[in-house]
Amino acid sequence: MKLLKIDHLGIAVNSMDEGKKFWSDILGLKFEGSETVQEQKVTTGFFPVGESEVELLESTAPDGPVAKYIEKKGTGIQHVAFRVENIEEALAELKEKGVKLIDQEPRIGAGGAKIAFLHPKATSGVLVELCQR
Ligand code: ZN
Repeated sequence: MKLLKIDHLGIAVNSMDEGKKFWSDILGLKFEGSETVQEQKVTTGFFPVGESEVELLESTAPDGPVAKYIEKKGTGIQHVAFRVENIEEALAELKEKGVKLIDQEPRIGAGGAKIAFLHPKATSGVLVELCQR
């Protein structure tokens, strides 16, 4: 499998507006717009920085994965996403190596990317996302 770069850092926030105040107003990153992914009950906001992006995650429902994450661990870095050349190949290789996955098959995330999450139990506690754009 070929990891190309860190695609983005997923950061859980209480609200996009609050997040924008720091990442945009203070750090000066350009807000590239937001998108709601209904099935994940999340609104994502993108702030490109160099070759990567900061992805803010605001829950759209109290029972969404991001709301649950904040409830348990508080706001902050929720996942690290690596861009891969071929996500199907990467998942097949991980399965072969016995790595515990959250997504057995890629699904469509924000921006139409193909994404899949590895289980944090397999990664010493880091929620790792693979994405192919
Ligand atoms: Zn992500």
